[in-house]
Amino acid sequence: MTQDKDGNKRSDGNEPHQYQAGSTTHREEDQWKKAPPYRIHEKNDNFDVKWKGKCHCGAVQYELSREKPLDSKYCHCTTCQRLHGAPFQWAAIFHKTDINFTNGHHDLGWYDPTNKSTDHHLPCKVQCAYCRTPIMDEGRNMILLFPTLIEGINTPEGKKAFEVKSHMFYQQRVVDIKDGKPKFKGLANESERVDEDTGEVIPGTAPKKDDK
Ligand SMILES: [Zn+2]
Ligand SMILES: [Zn+2]
Repeated sequence: MTQDKDGNKRSDGNEPHQYQAGSTTHREEDQWKKAPPYRIHEKNDNFDVKWKGKCHCGAVQYELSREKPLDSKYCHCTTCQRLHGAPFQWAAIFHKTDINFTNGHHDLGWYDPTNKSTDHHLPCKVQCAYCRTPIMDEGRNMILLFPTLIEGINTPEGKKAFEVKSHMFYQQRVVDIKDGKPKFKGLANESERVDEDTGEVIPGTAPKKDDK
């Protein structure tokens, strides 16, 4: 342990995860509570609720003010496969200000897959600290929500609003999906396409860097 200029104890990385969710201290590490997506909204914030979601145990509950995600895709990368215990991840992209947690917003657990750390270091995975349901991936600017937490996602309206536009990291897939959607070897719109019939990468289909 070391101390910062205010005399607060700082983890040197060898300590257990004392700054994790649920903490009621006012240390620098708790600043995340005051900023989107975790800032508590006031009643008069004019947050127009379009969808509601919750974890399995119900400790974490949220509302969304956007009718449709900015993008929706399946990620077939091996990290998503392992962290979700599923063949692929379904991610719907929203702005951090599109979400309003109504319960459990400070009762979350983190996992930063890059550093294999449970500190709140972006980008990171966010879970309910109690039932461990994956809630979202928090990036530096956006959040990637997992739509299966959303009430009504299995209705025609839900399926239409959150319909996926593409598959990414399809080359790492454990299941073939012939849905006619664009399939990318790596990141969507930044890597070569994969032919869904042959399962092969189509040479020359990566966008040129100058186009961007
Ligand atoms: Zn939960
Ligand atoms: Zn992935």
